[in-house]
Amino acid sequence: MHIPLTDIEKIDKEFVWHPFTQMLDWEKDDNIVIERGDGIYLYDIHGNRYIDGVSSLWVNMHGHNNKELNDAIKEQADKISHSTLLGLASVPSAILAQKLIEIAPTNLKKVFYSDSGSTSVEIAIKVAFQYFRQKGPKYKNKKKFIAATSAYHGDTIGSVSVGGMELFHSIYKPLLFETLRITYPYCYRCPFNLKHPACELYCAKEAEKIISYYADQSAAVIIEPMVQGAAGMITMPAGYMKKIEKACKDNEVLLIVDEVATGFGRTGKMFACEHEDINPDAMCLAKGITGGYLPLAATLFSKEIYEGFIANFEDNKTFFHGHTYTGNQLASASAIKSLELFKKNNIINANVPKVEYFSKKLKEFGGLEHVGEVRTIGLMAGIELVSDKKSKESYPQKDKIGHRVILKARERGVIIRPLGDVIVVLPPLVIEKNEIDQLLGVVYDSIKSVTQQ
Ligand SMILES: *Cc1c(COP(=O)(O)O)cnc(C)c1O
Repeated sequence: MHIPLTDIEKIDKEFVWHPFTQMLDWEKDDNIVIERGDGIYLYDIHGNRYIDGVSSLWVNMHGHNNKELNDAIKEQADKISHSTLLGLASVPSAILAQKLIEIAPTNLKKVFYSDSGSTSVEIAIKVAFQYFRQKGPKYKNKKKFIAATSAYHGDTIGSVSVGGMELFHSIYKPLLFETLRITYPYCYRCPFNLKHPACELYCAKEAEKIISYYADQSAAVIIEPMVQGAAGMITMPAGYMKKIEKACKDNEVLLIVDEVATGFGRTGKMFACEHEDINPDAMCLAKGITGGYLPLAATLFSKEIYEGFIANFEDNKTFFHGHTYTGNQLASASAIKSLELFKKNNIINANVPKVEYFSKKLKEFGGLEHVGEVRTIGLMAGIELVSDKKSKESYPQKDKIGHRVILKARERGVIIRPLGDVIVVLPPLVIEKNEIDQLLGVVYDSIKSVTQQ
């Protein structure tokens, strides 16, 4: 049976419930149906071409339809697509684990696979909790987690519990476990009403106090290092992350870094931790791990944590957790090839001038009447729109200002997605300078035409 592509929009509206989407709007709107991709471009069923300005939700690294990634997946498919890691090992999952440990911060020695950022966080939380349960009576109260305000760690109940985004999370409160909070540094709207750098990182001092005060009840701090993604690309001031790391070490509280969004070159280093030489106890990876081709996640742990689970079977110290598609062979093969491409194309170093260019061009957005702040790190940017620059007043939610900007950008051949009033620009790492010009040109004009009419 042949279904004409032009029917797909209608079929989608009838049968698909879209994520993070008010379906009332979706059903009314004209929606784009993507059929194929090539490099940084997406093509819809009518043949229209768009720059993929958010890397298909922050995952695409080497561009779409990359021949080497395609071939790696095809080659693996010709051998086997999936076998379980429960009771069996597999070739690509073992090789990938070794390669991940080679490039990860030196503390990290073991890889636990799953299939999404949320599951990678659930695993970190359960392992940290169980680790202290098993460590001895002295640690029996270390049951809580310390997370940051406006954090985003995924959509499952555990990851929502450590999350801190009111809009997404407040309705589920009765289902969540209690989490302690430190204040994420959001310098543009400092919660302490201070100014950086005169504040001397007051927020970090406050966090140190909380970590030390609650140390005997706390298993771990979980944090998005260097930048909070979903909160609106909120970048940390230099030195904050190092202070959090030290407070954790000083107080026997584990440090879990959620690098689901920041990992694999996104911030200009292979991992965001490298910006401040952070050596965490656990690290959550997903999004870009396969180059953006297949779902895969990994939670990396220190030797010390791992050894806390090593015992005779009847001692019940096993980590009884495992998602069915854990360590999937196709996804692992894609991730191995992605890491090879990083090496072969020297992507991290080659991107240094590109990152500088990107951030310099974005600074110019600050001149627009309704751009409150532009935040960038690597090829990751958030442009915060405000109704009044002086008072920093936000737009009313019903104005849907971010949404209107991205619709305007679509008319001009660019796909982006806002986080509330923050316009996110996050292109594939292989974007060229002239394409950065095109992309940012459209974003600039779209912001200008929507906010200055
Ligand atoms: C996207 C994201 C997650 C959740 O990942 P999913 O694959 O969507 O479950 C977790 N943490 C951070 C920092 C993220 O950006």
